[in-house]
Amino acid sequence: MTDELLLVGARVVDPLNAYDDQRDIGIRDGVIVDPATLRDPERLHLQGKVVAPGFIDLHVHLRYPGQTHKEDIRSGTAAAAAGGFTTVLAMPNTVPTVDNPTVLADVLRKAAADGAVHVLQAGALTVGRQGEAVTDIAGLKAAGAPVVTDDGSTPQLAGVMRQAMIAAAAAGIAVIDHCEDCSLARPGVMHDGAVARELGLPGQPRSAEEVIVARDIILAAETGCRLHLQHLSSAGSVAMLRLAQQHGLPVTGEACPHHLFLTDEACRTFGVNAKMAPPLREEADRQALIDGLRDGTLCAIATDHAPHSADEKAAGWTKAPFGIIGLEAAVPLCFSELYNKGVLTLPQLIALFTVGPRKVLGLPVGSLELGATADVTILDLDAKHSISVESFASRSRNCPYDGWQCRGKVVGTLVGSSR
Ligand SMILES: [Zn+2]
Repeated sequence: MTDELLLVGARVVDPLNAYDDQRDIGIRDGVIVDPATLRDPERLHLQGKVVAPGFIDLHVHLRYPGQTHKEDIRSGTAAAAAGGFTTVLAMPNTVPTVDNPTVLADVLRKAAADGAVHVLQAGALTVGRQGEAVTDIAGLKAAGAPVVTDDGSTPQLAGVMRQAMIAAAAAGIAVIDHCEDCSLARPGVMHDGAVARELGLPGQPRSAEEVIVARDIILAAETGCRLHLQHLSSAGSVAMLRLAQQHGLPVTGEACPHHLFLTDEACRTFGVNAKMAPPLREEADRQALIDGLRDGTLCAIATDHAPHSADEKAAGWTKAPFGIIGLEAAVPLCFSELYNKGVLTLPQLIALFTVGPRKVLGLPVGSLELGATADVTILDLDAKHSISVESFASRSRNCPYDGWQCRGKVVGTLVGSSR
């Protein structure tokens, strides 16, 4: 028996196909089809709602294997589905590291069994993420890794990164890059500025990010490797990325909601829930990131969903781990602050969750064209609500947005299915 669904009456926004109008969407057995070919579909009435291609988050930590007290594939993908995402890219900084095809295959097997959304798994750039020996990048790609990264860090030696980029270019996949020079970043726990000095905390200067952005743009130019810069935080990084793109280099970049909506001032209010890598910076940096979204320099918004247990985060500023959870707050925050406040148009904002990530991954995701997998995100742009961390599906609670008032809500997600 076939499984048929008709989405009726919504505004359909499909940026890849430059489509923005009211239309019905037909789904049969998990695939988008012409509504006229359906025989007796179940109808989902969505007047006043927006239907978009399923959102893709390029940056999540699902903590499997090895750290499932923080999150696991079941809880992390439940958080993704609740937050409007139908595909997530998991980072390889797990225990053990996803640095070989065997560990990668184990994660993909677990994700197929437990995942509420599609899970893509990035492979590591270097063995054990130690920044020394480059992994078998072609082997990782063959086992299913769409990209490679040492996220959490980056090879500190330019020669190692160059070798990794040569291998990634030969394998035809992108390197995605956590830009941080440890010799400049350590022992900083927040942005190196007036707030850090007032709080008496060691700072990380912008240069800790920017020297790696510069280095790796140069290496991408030399090797021809596709390079995607993760979680950019500084105005200088955005300027360098823009310049690289003007020179036709294959370099893209992403921003995270926390760098778009918070500055280092948040370290006073939210304590260690404002401790992230790279750190929250200053208002001029925040504005530069928003300008980067507006002019297309940044092609994606990614959450850097980084679950940590309450005990770990309670260790205080110097010992607590970096990062906050983001899967369930990102879409409401972005639609509230960027769409409903007139910063970006609806197709622009939806493209940052669909077309941009598609380009980085090089996969046929993020579109509602006929024949595509029926991954759909359904939004109510006017719904007012407040973020409630207690209601999150994530196993962790490290999030500074509890109680934030939002306008714009995820109503539902369909993940390659008709239900
Ligand atoms: Zn990172």
